[in-house]
Amino acid sequence: MSDVYDVIVIGAGPAGYPAAIRAAQNKLKVACVDEWQNTDGTYAFGGTCLNAGCIPSKALLESSELFQRAKDEFAVHGIKVGSLALDLGAMQKRRASVVKTMTNGINTLFKANGVVGIQGHGRLLPGNKVVVKGADGEKTLEAKNVILASGSVPVRLRSVPHDGKYIVDSWNALEFDAVPKRLGVIGAGVIGLELGSVWRRLGSEVVVLEALEQFLPMVDQTIAKEAQRHFKKQGLDIKLGAKVSSAAVSGKAVDVLYTDGQGDHSLQVEKLIVAVGRRPYTQELLAEGTGVELDERGFIKVDEHCKTNAPNVWAVGDVVRGPMLAHKGKEEGVMVADLIAGNYGEVNYKVIPSVIYTAPEIAWVGQTEEQVKASARPYKVGTFPFAASGRARAMEAAAGMAKIVSAKDDDEVLGIHVIGPMAGELISEAVLAMEYSASTEDIQRTIHAHPTLSEAIHEAALNVDKKAIDGLNR
Ligand code: FAD
Ligand code: AMP
Repeated sequence: MSDVYDVIVIGAGPAGYPAAIRAAQNKLKVACVDEWQNTDGTYAFGGTCLNAGCIPSKALLESSELFQRAKDEFAVHGIKVGSLALDLGAMQKRRASVVKTMTNGINTLFKANGVVGIQGHGRLLPGNKVVVKGADGEKTLEAKNVILASGSVPVRLRSVPHDGKYIVDSWNALEFDAVPKRLGVIGAGVIGLELGSVWRRLGSEVVVLEALEQFLPMVDQTIAKEAQRHFKKQGLDIKLGAKVSSAAVSGKAVDVLYTDGQGDHSLQVEKLIVAVGRRPYTQELLAEGTGVELDERGFIKVDEHCKTNAPNVWAVGDVVRGPMLAHKGKEEGVMVADLIAGNYGEVNYKVIPSVIYTAPEIAWVGQTEEQVKASARPYKVGTFPFAASGRARAMEAAAGMAKIVSAKDDDEVLGIHVIGPMAGELISEAVLAMEYSASTEDIQRTIHAHPTLSEAIHEAALNVDKKAIDGLNR
């Protein structure tokens, strides 16, 4: 006899666990299966995000930023600290404890909501059966609906063989037990820049090798240029147009070969982080005959409601098309759980915010100026520099700007872009405005508390129509 559920979710990352919780809140009988094992062999819910992504990286970003501020900024505030020392062991212990608290929280949430959490590998069989292989052997479960939320894994380069010690991925790079003297990073994407920043602040000499000539092509280029300037000032050596051809461990170092416009080069680093993107993970997930199809890049094919080609099989998160972001997966998971219960559900893919957690932070929603220009829709732009923000000055964090791109015809807000302090928090206002189809005038007429960083968005909106009060109307 197999156990029968209304919903089985495979994967308990930020796409899978919210799907399971919402489905249970919708009075459905739910099981959530996850195989994640930490380096010590213990199982943990939470997926990449909680165990090896969003959360541990933000814990280290915070710690490393505090260290750097104590070193470089406290004196400006009139705070004298004697000699400053780094205790990386304690910093890493805190990172691990933040992760543990959050992953344990999912166990609690599962219990509180009546989700049956099962640790082991799940494989979909035809007829909506799921075979789970765990520590105590195999068992077959059955469900009216199955949600696939198996996530993604780092892309590896064949010519840069991963060994987990010297040539590492983002997970290994969050767990270094010493600050590398010289650190190489392949890929100037979000993950490469965040990890490069952490270790730079803690004292590494960091070289980032990026194959593309353009820096952060997905980011509004006014913002990307500003970011590049700040990262250079912080000592991140970002080499654009530098394609890594191979790397090999030699003794206790890594020899890296790369090619740029000037020819071939070699570089020796103590550790090399490969951060060249992530790919959907579907290993041993689908048995023959399930009817679930993959696209040419390995993503599970779904429609706008995350339905796969197989009846009552859904897929959400990094394993399907769209940006590989935790909050995108979460909203897809919740939508599917609501649709299964017969409720309304949708995801507005046009207003998914993106954040790069460097210092200054970079955050945006909607279209870049380059995208609007390419669409041929007449547009207007407003900006406001944090240098003119009283709050940013008071915080000693006056780098960066807010920028709004709006339509000339009907004043629709098309994109909001921020580089600066707490940009990731500030962008929520922009997301809400765009979700409710706000016009630029709506933001102009909205009262923003003074003195707050959010005034930068207000002033950028005013600047769109050259009405800024605290900024120069150019
Ligand atoms: P995952 O989180 O990958 O979870 C999938 C889960 O399914 C895993 O636990 C896996 O073990 C399990 N699984 C897979 N196959 C099976 C199977 N057959 N049986 C059982 N279990 C299975 N995103 C953000 O939005 N903000 C950030 O700040 C951010 N920072 C990041 C930093 C780093 C260093 C990295 C690597 C990623 C970061 N991301 C961030 C991306 C984010 O982690 C992913 O978008 C998110 O985790 C995707 O969620 P998911 O649930 O689809 O997949
Ligand atoms: P992302 O997908 O945002 O994580 O970014 C990964 C980055 O790695 C992209 O900007 C790629 O151009 C870059 N990249 C991929 N392969 C190489 C390589 N061999 N050498 C240098 N950069 C690379």
